[in-house]
Amino acid sequence: MEPINPEDALLASRLLREAKTQTGKINDELADVGDRAREDLATSVEVRDIDHIPSLDEMYIDKRIWLRITKVFAVSADLRDSTSLSTKDKYVNTSARLYQAATGSAVRVLDRFNPGFMDIQGDGLFALYHGERALERAFCAAVSLKTFSERHLVPLIHELFSDNFPETGYKLGMASGTLAVKKVGVRGTNEPVWAGKPVNWAAKCAQRADRHELIVTQAVYDKLSDNQYVTHSCGCKNNGVSTPLWSDVEVEKLDKHSNCRVLRSSWCELHGSEFCKAILEGMREREDVFTNQAA
Ligand SMILES: [Zn+2]
Repeated sequence: MEPINPEDALLASRLLREAKTQTGKINDELADVGDRAREDLATSVEVRDIDHIPSLDEMYIDKRIWLRITKVFAVSADLRDSTSLSTKDKYVNTSARLYQAATGSAVRVLDRFNPGFMDIQGDGLFALYHGERALERAFCAAVSLKTFSERHLVPLIHELFSDNFPETGYKLGMASGTLAVKKVGVRGTNEPVWAGKPVNWAAKCAQRADRHELIVTQAVYDKLSDNQYVTHSCGCKNNGVSTPLWSDVEVEKLDKHSNCRVLRSSWCELHGSEFCKAILEGMREREDVFTNQAA
């Protein structure tokens, strides 16, 4: 028997599919897909708890088994005004270069804080953090990306592109909770699907944010609120006196959880490295912060 060339097999299956599409009846095909959906809806799934973010190889495809992980922190990043980037001939080259530079940089920055999973979606991306100091790593990743966007990406765009280029920059969101994952799709095009609040809520927070803002859910903020490296400034912009950094913000799409918190500042040029390191090492209290929250 002749060995089958995979490319020939692929071509054959594509030709077969095209022939079917041309001659077949779409209503019959929809009915077939409906049968499959009925089966999916009627068959109960198994949920297995695991203590880490699974690798792509660990996720189930054919079996109806979802892997569930608790205490996940999701960071979502969105590029502002990216829809106004044109793909018309005159601008496609510039837009493509911006996507490449922005997305590539964002992956590099978020990856530095050891996410368990990261995915690019359209003009944005999200990263999941789990395990030791997951909250601290996720927070530092988000602040680092917005600092990078403000300090490097936007000035580079101004320097290299024309003045009427959209005022872009990264918007960040963060949420926490339990996720379940499984690969879903047609064989060969299986993509992990993350079900649960954290990814969805982080994306809604990022959508609501303006560029260079980080919006976190109240639950995330509550976990950060006793960390003075997170809650208060270094004081550089206020004659050495540290000030509270966060404000209230409404994320309407989160309905009864719409009360969120926003951080507009970024790492200080002088103290950023020190603060980031301290947070990652689990430090919380500073001697230079006076809080009158007691009593
Ligand atoms: Zn400073």
